[in-house]
Amino acid sequence: MFIHLLTIHPPIVYGALQESILKRAQEEGLLDIRVVNMRDFAFSKHQQTDDYPYGGGVGLVMKPEPVYGAIRWCKERVPPGTCPPRVILMDPQGERFTQKKAEELSHEDHLILVCGRYEGFDERIRAAATDEISIGDYVLMGGELPALVIVEAVSRLIPGVLGDLQSAVTESHSSGLLEGPQYTRPIDFEGMRVPEILVSGNHGAVDQWRRREALKRTLERRPDLLETAPLTDEDRRVLAELAGTEEPGARKERRRNR
Ligand code: SAH
Repeated sequence: MFIHLLTIHPPIVYGALQESILKRAQEEGLLDIRVVNMRDFAFSKHQQTDDYPYGGGVGLVMKPEPVYGAIRWCKERVPPGTCPPRVILMDPQGERFTQKKAEELSHEDHLILVCGRYEGFDERIRAAATDEISIGDYVLMGGELPALVIVEAVSRLIPGVLGDLQSAVTESHSSGLLEGPQYTRPIDFEGMRVPEILVSGNHGAVDQWRRREALKRTLERRPDLLETAPLTDEDRRVLAELAGTEEPGARKERRRNR
């Protein structure tokens, strides 16, 4: 997959792209991520990428020319035969980003992520986009962190990027549920013990326990997800049983009292 990340502050994103899994995925040729400085496409005297809003008002607005110029340049930088890009504006007014959207984007050949700054985009920039995405109902200073959020969420779904693909499948939200508790060594940490079943060696029982815990955690923390999660009859039976045994929020209450 080709990803172009368009920004006027490249150093904000460099570190995240040059470490750990994203670094390895690029070295292995699974991902080709390029950071493009939109200032290079601003041809005014001071390479201005922003200007005052027509009609007055506070703040500055991102000018259309550098954004259009950079997008056009990116479109010419992928090999022939690459599917047309998804051009995605980072925007708090956009569609809310979800795991489902990440999955959809992970099947694309080419993403162009456009990071806004200042008061946001000149309205005409929207015409160049196929998508507008918000990472949540809050306002940040720029689109760089949202773009990195999308890069991470999408990249880890590309086959080979995570060493063990299985972990992407059982992860929270991929199955429609939250993932249940996980443990590593030591078996006893300050009196808090790993559940016996996980060291029993009985894989069938472990799988069943994990499913039950995922259901339990989702019921406690995000019951809304249960409305759309694919559930088996057995899941529904377990949920009915759980709903009868513990009030939602009881776990949090216990934690607070500890
Ligand atoms: N004046 C705009 C907000 C501009 S914030 C408005 O009221 O809608 C500046 C830039 O930060 C935006 O153009 C966008 O690229 C980025 N940004 C801020 N919050 C964001 C969010 N929640 N999701 C995605 N991008 C965001």
